[in-house]
Amino acid sequence: MSFNVVFFGPPAAGKGTQAKIIESKYGLKQLSTGDILRAEVAAQTDLGKQAKDIMDAGKLVSDDIVIGIIENAMAQASDAKGFIFDGFPRTQAQAKALDDMLAKTGQKIDIVLELKVADDAFLDRIKKRAEEEGRSDDTVDAMATRIAAYRSYSAEVLPYYQAQRDIVPVDGMQAVDDVTTQIEQALGKVQNLAA
Ligand code: ADP
Repeated sequence: MSFNVVFFGPPAAGKGTQAKIIESKYGLKQLSTGDILRAEVAAQTDLGKQAKDIMDAGKLVSDDIVIGIIENAMAQASDAKGFIFDGFPRTQAQAKALDDMLAKTGQKIDIVLELKVADDAFLDRIKKRAEEEGRSDDTVDAMATRIAAYRSYSAEVLPYYQAQRDIVPVDGMQAVDDVTTQIEQALGKVQNLAA
């Protein structure tokens, strides 16, 4: 029995933090296209070299690249109970490709969570993260592009999922533990994962 979660939300909203907590509690595997791409950049692979400038500018990497990344990552983690997709899909083509990949093994997306954070809050979080992690795309210019990209890709991807199901809102303005509690409640309503 597998269980697959799409975790949607603006840059620096806390998706990664929450996905890691949920991952260890439920045996799901977090797949963050952003993390995988940053690892490719750090390792200076061909793919990383192709992606670096696009990422630094805050633009979207091509569908072919990110779909390939997800396909590989899923194949490598085939023993996971399911996946938390974080930062993917960001286009309808990616969403459709994901549905098709899962369907091949009789799986589907079981829940779509949307982490909601006020605009000024994630700008503050980005500045904090820039100081802590030194990510090369946490600059003011790239941030503006990433927020604009978020608005446009959420307007593309959310309707795709809305046509299939209800999207579950999560209030990302609360403390980390309270956000986790909301997510666990939402997951519990869909399936008793802890069982
Ligand atoms: P953010 O905090 O901006 O949401 P991510 O770590 O999710 O950061 O992504 C960082 C960058 O990696 C994005 O700005 C984009 O260039 C690239 N990227 C990540 N996931 C995708 C995707 N699904 N499609 C296209 N580009 C992606």
